[in-house]
Amino acid sequence: MASRVLRIGLIPGDGIGREVIPAGRRILEALPSSLGLKFEFSDLHAGFETFEKTGAALPRRTVDVLRGECDGALFGAVSSPSKAVKGYSSPIVALRKELDLYANIRPVKSVRTDRTAIDLVIARENTEDLYVKEEKTFERPASEGGRYAEAIKRISERASTRIATIAGEIALRRQKIREAGSSGSSIHKQPLVTITHKSNVLSKTDGLFREAARAALSAPQFQGAVAVEEQIVDSMAYKLFRQPGAYDVIVAPNLYGDILSDAAAALVGSLGLVPSANVGEGFAIGEPCHGSAPDIEGKGIANPIATLRSTALMLEFLNEEEAAAKIYAAVDANLEEGKLLTPDLGGKATTEEVVADILKRL
Ligand code: ATP
Ligand code: MG
Repeated sequence: MASRVLRIGLIPGDGIGREVIPAGRRILEALPSSLGLKFEFSDLHAGFETFEKTGAALPRRTVDVLRGECDGALFGAVSSPSKAVKGYSSPIVALRKELDLYANIRPVKSVRTDRTAIDLVIARENTEDLYVKEEKTFERPASEGGRYAEAIKRISERASTRIATIAGEIALRRQKIREAGSSGSSIHKQPLVTITHKSNVLSKTDGLFREAARAALSAPQFQGAVAVEEQIVDSMAYKLFRQPGAYDVIVAPNLYGDILSDAAAALVGSLGLVPSANVGEGFAIGEPCHGSAPDIEGKGIANPIATLRSTALMLEFLNEEEAAAKIYAAVDANLEEGKLLTPDLGGKATTEEVVADILKRL
């Protein structure tokens, strides 16, 4: 059988990033050979320690190798210095720009499958909205109200269209993975995309997002296959907490997506479970949602599941659904049994023991 070679950049970064990223590599290497996949790895650097050593948080070589030689990457975490450090800025933010990773994808899934179960994905637009960081402060005499500040909220048809399109594709793919029956425990039947906005107040910006997303999701490939609904963002937040099981894929502009995805992560207990992917044209970086977790660094107890799920998510966007489904199933089986869990989930197992258990199930 012809095999496909995927070249993956590994960027452990700081803190527990260095303890969990090796788990991502190991699970890729452990995938059954019947899938016809081969992996090659490039060890790359970025992060605060890299900054302290070299003066650059994101060395040029890291970007060049990712762009020139890799199909995807795994990114661990970077520690955020407690005070602003001159010349330092987040390498993952820079990478999203450099590689035009326009979508931030965050699946949130609970172990349970009862009424309180959650199994959803938030597709957050990642390049514009208020995060274009065009802010200004204005001076004004106190008699006229004093100083004030403004920020630009930019929404484009192009960015809104592509994030809604990827949301629709994710909804279809999730159904495929469900039908492949990997875990057999899904709470969803029909693909659904929920468009989130505040166009009742922001009729131009959010109005454009809404209109472009609606248009994108009425494209032929989604017609009849993906149901589409809308939620105003405040009511979205309310319903997310009241009935999270009702949602499949939520698509949102940058700021709402940022807030909703952290809120949704809180619903499943530990940050150590929640994966994400930064996705562009033909490129994806899997990245656990947690940070560098300095409080548990070096203890060997970091939960590797967020990274393993991020690895599967990266594979989804490289069109290797079958391989992804196998990883999800192995992780779900470990969680459902609940015997080998790290301390963040109330267990006593080490990172190594959890990884070994999941590899065995694979
Ligand atoms: P950073 O500035 O790098 O984000 P932080 O101090 O905010 O660091 P986080 O990584 O965001 O730490 O984690 C927040 C909390 O969740 C910490 O108590 C951390 O120990 C815990 N945590 C995060 N990730 C994991 C994980 N993979 N396994 C176990 N606990 C985790
Ligand atoms: Mg943090």
